[in-house]
Amino acid sequence: MKRIIEKYGVQHQLDMCIEEMAELMQAINKCRRSGIVGTEIEKPHKGSTIEQIRAYNNLCAEVADVKIMLLQMDCMVDQERVEMIMERKIKRIWNKLNATADIQ
Ligand SMILES: [Mg+2]
Repeated sequence: MKRIIEKYGVQHQLDMCIEEMAELMQAINKCRRSGIVGTEIEKPHKGSTIEQIRAYNNLCAEVADVKIMLLQMDCMVDQERVEMIMERKIKRIWNKLNATADIQ
């Protein structure tokens, strides 16, 4: 990832990151419109239409693109800080989930 950033530069890779996130948003919307999103995202099966198969495959490709961009973002920012913030946020979500479970 560091080699990619060195070759193309931080500014360019940030533009790419924005572009890939926008493509993922579009892919999510296409999946919704194709009718494969319910309580889960439906994997292609015998009854799937071409549009649904394309939408699903495109979604997977865009998830991969964004993951690659996030790996690069990890190299651009303080990873320890990101980890620390993630831990705090996950703990907060966990506590919220457990609090909700107590009520039900
Ligand atoms: Mg893409």
